[in-house]
Amino acid sequence: MSDITQQRCHNHLQREAVARCPECGRFFCRECITDHEDKVLCAACLRKRVEPSVKTSDRFRGLLRIGQFLLGTLILYVFFYYLAQVLLALPSDFHDGTLWPSGWWTGS
Ligand SMILES: [Zn+2]
Ligand SMILES: [Zn+2]
Repeated sequence: MSDITQQRCHNHLQREAVARCPECGRFFCRECITDHEDKVLCAACLRKRVEPSVKTSDRFRGLLRIGQFLLGTLILYVFFYYLAQVLLALPSDFHDGTLWPSGWWTGS
């Protein structure tokens, strides 16, 4: 029974197996087996292989998003800080003669 032509696909009992999955050792037909990095794997083992790497890249993407959010907040903070500094540094008579009417806030 070691002859592959005598084996049937693990998922399709009516089909002849064409390859054996090196991971689980089960036989599969052409439809159920897939090439993955020059290795032949069944769909179940391929999913097992692919999932952890997807999870880590998702976690990394999440961290990247948090980093971008923090960086954006920092940039906004610095921007408004310097904007406030510039506004405070403006001479009080800057507003005179402009659209701004003079009032108690200009100090005159
Ligand atoms: Zn397998
Ligand atoms: Zn099959």
